[in-house]
Amino acid sequence: MGLRDDISAWSVVRQLRVRDGLALGKAAQSARQATLRPRTAEADDVVKSICPYCAVGCGQRIFVKDGEITQIEGDPDSPISRGRLCPKGAASRNLVQSPLREYKVKYRRPYSKEWEELDLDIAVDMIAERLIKTREETWQDEDEEGRHLHRTLGFAHLGGATLDNEENYLIKKFFTAMGAIQIENQARI
Ligand code: SF4
Repeated sequence: MGLRDDISAWSVVRQLRVRDGLALGKAAQSARQATLRPRTAEADDVVKSICPYCAVGCGQRIFVKDGEITQIEGDPDSPISRGRLCPKGAASRNLVQSPLREYKVKYRRPYSKEWEELDLDIAVDMIAERLIKTREETWQDEDEEGRHLHRTLGFAHLGGATLDNEENYLIKKFFTAMGAIQIENQARI
């Protein structure tokens, strides 16, 4: 490298040459950086959505390529979040694509240290049996003065924030019909 190259490599010379006096733009860019492109540039489509994780409801832009999600970012058009996502929302791609995501029912028997896989139909039957039994054992028809209660305090329901509106609607209807009065959702906590 000659003297001329040495001088032109000085940052102040670069700043003057590319008219970037504060070195906040092109003058601060390396040759490698100049060739990099964001992975979002390869997307076939960008779909707007809402983060499913909490009641804030931040806006999301979901980048899709070949039918697969490649990136999820905050939506600058959202009046709620104005382009921002918290770390959980920024990682929500894993809700769909994480290799660690469980697709099987896991059950740990009382006093056991091991998890075992259960068939979904068996798990649903076990839950239904326990719900019906608990309801029968804890049903309160009326109080000591004969006023109608028609309720049970034997079970409650706590929904997760990844449940959608329709699921929450059905859960609320179902558990109210069963006589439960403690029905809550993580998004309100
Ligand atoms: S989890 Fe984070 S990104 Fe998602 S809605 Fe709540 S605050 Fe927004």
